[in-house]
Amino acid sequence: MSAPPPHRHIRRARETLGEAETVVVLTGAGVSADSGVPTFRGQGGLWREHRPEDLATPAAFARDPRLVWEWYGWRRELVSACAPNAAHLALARWQEGPRPIHIVTQNVDGLHRLARDRIRDGAGGSTTGEILELHGSLFRTRCTCCAAVEDSRAPIDATSEASLPHCGACGALLRPDVVWFGEPLDAHVLDRAFRLAARAEVCLVVGTSAIVQPAAAVATEAARAGAALVEVNPEVTPLLRVAQLSLRGRAAEIVPLLV
Ligand code: NAD
Ligand code: ZN
Repeated sequence: MSAPPPHRHIRRARETLGEAETVVVLTGAGVSADSGVPTFRGQGGLWREHRPEDLATPAAFARDPRLVWEWYGWRRELVSACAPNAAHLALARWQEGPRPIHIVTQNVDGLHRLARDRIRDGAGGSTTGEILELHGSLFRTRCTCCAAVEDSRAPIDATSEASLPHCGACGALLRPDVVWFGEPLDAHVLDRAFRLAARAEVCLVVGTSAIVQPAAAVATEAARAGAALVEVNPEVTPLLRVAQLSLRGRAAEIVPLLV
């Protein structure tokens, strides 16, 4: 990890963001790290002896739905105990302003929505900015058989396959409404994200390793279409080559200084 970014870099980033008419913010696990949600690739990424790559797959769910649901039940509990941090809240407040600020997130923790709800509770504002969850949400289920999708925050009983959540409409097993390794993203959501990226004057990238595709391509597509790229991450990422400014630091410290 390097030294905190100098004030002049923060000032330049502030100016760049302040002048833009349209902004796309791409966030990854790092924006929620300061809320205590572990990133996959950092410390605490493992559950028991399992790697996420071995559990978050259609094959794992087909082989052992109980085990996969147990892991998701644990993740839901973990994330339910976490609150939006200063970065989520600053972005939510920024979204309430007059310009369209869109958030495209790889996170499944729902913390951007929660931050928006918090901010609105106080101010009752309205916004033109969207929140697109590219990889779905831990707090939604989807039927493995019919089209039923539901918000769900109830604890998961993974003691047996019979106790797992089942569809109220057709009785089939439900699954988490998240995108697993090897699965395509929702085409509609992805298309929307790329449209917003192509139109953005600035793309602010926070807490993503920028190696998970096609999510990372939202940033590179914005840059290709002419957007200035500003990055916040304590570590160097592949975006260094295309970013106008790379601010090395934690999301909760840096983002509130920028927006
Ligand atoms: P990642 O785990 O690959 O990378 C996280 C990035 O965040 C790293 O580059 C790291 O340097 C940076 N980081 C760590 N602490 C930070 C902080 N305090 N402030 C800013 N940056 C910080 O995460 P990813 O790029 O989002 O991709 C991993 C995949 O895992 C995604 O598909 C995502 O859906 C999923 N995931 C989601 C969550 C969540 O919902 N919170 C958590 C873990 C993984
Ligand atoms: Zn069903």
